[in-house]
Amino acid sequence: MKYLDLRKEIIIACREMVEKNLVIGTWGNISVRLPDEPTAFLITPSGLDYFATKTEDLVIVDLEGNILAGHRKCSSEVQLHRLIYKNRKDIKAILHNHSPYASTLCAAQKPIPPLAEDLVQIVGGGVDVTPYVAGRNHLQLGKAACRALGPEKFALLLANHGPVACGRSLQEAMVIALIVEKAAKMYLWAQLVGGAKEIPTKDIQKEREHFLYKYGQKE
Ligand SMILES: [Zn+2]
Repeated sequence: MKYLDLRKEIIIACREMVEKNLVIGTWGNISVRLPDEPTAFLITPSGLDYFATKTEDLVIVDLEGNILAGHRKCSSEVQLHRLIYKNRKDIKAILHNHSPYASTLCAAQKPIPPLAEDLVQIVGGGVDVTPYVAGRNHLQLGKAACRALGPEKFALLLANHGPVACGRSLQEAMVIALIVEKAAKMYLWAQLVGGAKEIPTKDIQKEREHFLYKYGQKE
């Protein structure tokens, strides 16, 4: 089977979403752009238990929405993934979940302000929220998500629904999902002590650049 390792990585990440309380049951979905075929991506199937999902259950879809391989019905949120990949060539993986604190802000239709250095470094600033779009309006939801994501950010909130974390790799998308959840928690808890203060705009870009070009070990 093609992309066997990548399929295994996606299934492991799905189980990690459950174990880290990012999703309950099968709400949530993961996709990864194919490394040698950037106009297509692998995505989780619809409504299948992550602990019973097998490598052959994943579906390959192209950027026009055609199913290229797989016998399962793919995630109902495939349009969201497809439009993000179409709009943002730098995004290689998408992890959509329903984590409790970020979903709370989705319910309040409130963005997460740029309140923590790790958030602005890895996401590129605060996290914007879409206007409400009913989940069944898949195309509209995807378009609203792209607008909230903008040209450079790596996460967004879907109103009354849940967060979307993107990454330059699946590993990065997972870290972003966890950082967004932590930032949402910080934002809510900060209300008890007078509210979160934002990092100045001039410093956000510097933090992001530092993360992208200087952070970590030199090879
Ligand atoms: Zn969802």
